[in-house]
Amino acid sequence: MTERAVVTGGAGFLGSHLCDRLLAEGTSVVCIDNFLTGSPRNIAHLIGRPGFRMIECDLTGFVHVPGDVDLVLHLASAASPVDYLKLPVETLKVGSLGTLHALGLAREKSARFILASTSEVYGDPLCHPQSEEYWGNVNPVGPRSVYDEAKRYAEALTTAYRNSRGVDTGIVRIFNTYGPRMRPYDGRAIPTFIRQALTGQPLTVTGDGSQTRSICYVADTAAGVLTLARDDFPGPVNIGNPEEMTVLDLAKTIRDLTGSSAPISFVDRPVDDPAVRRPDTTLARDRLGWRPTVPSGDGLRRTIDWFAAELGTGDADRATGS
Ligand code: NAD
Repeated sequence: MTERAVVTGGAGFLGSHLCDRLLAEGTSVVCIDNFLTGSPRNIAHLIGRPGFRMIECDLTGFVHVPGDVDLVLHLASAASPVDYLKLPVETLKVGSLGTLHALGLAREKSARFILASTSEVYGDPLCHPQSEEYWGNVNPVGPRSVYDEAKRYAEALTTAYRNSRGVDTGIVRIFNTYGPRMRPYDGRAIPTFIRQALTGQPLTVTGDGSQTRSICYVADTAAGVLTLARDDFPGPVNIGNPEEMTVLDLAKTIRDLTGSSAPISFVDRPVDDPAVRRPDTTLARDRLGWRPTVPSGDGLRRTIDWFAAELGTGDADRATGS
C-alpha cells in the first residue's frame, strides 16, 4: 500500500518543498491550504500529477479528508513577521483551532502527526545556543506573541494529544530556513536582501546588524522534518543549521554573491527582535542521525538564481499578493 500524507500549509514555501519531496519518495500527498500566505504557484507543477490532491480550505473550520492517512505534517501558519503582524488573529486561530483540527485528523486516521514549531518558542533567548531543554523568553503581550505563543500553545496541545489521546506525535522546532519560493516581499531578511541587491536598492539592515541568525537551506530542513516523520521520536527536536552569522554579515555576503554595489542602510530594529539565534543540533544528530549538508554560500547562490529569474519575469509584485 502506498503511504499517504496530509500536508497542511502545503502551498507555502516550506510545505511545497515537502510535497515535492514526499511525492518523489512515492508517498501520495493531500495538500490542505487556504492560500492565506501561500500561493497556487508553489504547487502549480503538482496539479494533475498522480498521487497529488489539493484541498482548498481553512484549517480553522471544518476539515475532512476521505480515505486512509498515514502521516499529517502540520505546517499551516503565517510564518514571516510581516504576515503574522498583519494577520494576528488568523495566526493565533490556526495555531490553536487549526492545530486542534489537524490533531483530530491524525487521531481519526491513526496517523503520525508532526507539528512544525519554531525557534521562536525560545523568544529572545537568555541561553545560547538554544537546546531543546531551554524554556524560552517570550513576551506574551508583545507584538510577536501572536506567532510565538500560538506555537507554544500548539506544542502544549500536541503533547496533550500524545499523552491523553494516544496520538503518535512529533514536534520539530525549525530555525530560519531559506530557499526558492520565498516571496520577495515577505519581510524576512534573506528575501529582502536578495531583492534589494538584485534591484540595486539599499540593503536595509535592522539595528546595527550585530544580532545573529543561523540559516538553513530548505532542502536540509525538509530532510530533517521527514527524518522525524519516519521516526517515532516525540521531540521536540531542533532542525536548523548552527552556522551563525550577524545580520550585517548576511547582508554583505548576499551583496557580494549578487555582485551588487548597493549600499547598506540601517533601519529601526523591530520590537522584541531576538539578539541571538543558533540551534544546538546535538539531539537531531544523535537521535535522528540528521545534520545539514548545504553550506550557506551554495544555498544562497541557488536562492539568488531563483530570485533573479522571478524578478526578471516581473512576477515579484504578483507574488506579494499586493
Ligand atoms: P508560508 O507562509 O510560506 O506557509 C504557510 C502556509 O500555511 C501558507 O501556504 C498559508 O496559506 C497556509 N495557511 C495559513 N493559515 C491557514 C489556514 N487557516 N488554513 C489553511 N492553510 C493556512 O510559511 P513557511 O515559511 O513555509 O512556514 C511553514 C511552517 O513552518 C509554519 O508553520 C512556520 O511556523 C514553520 N516554520 C518556518 C520557518 C522558516 O524559516 N520558513 C521557521 C520556523 C518555523
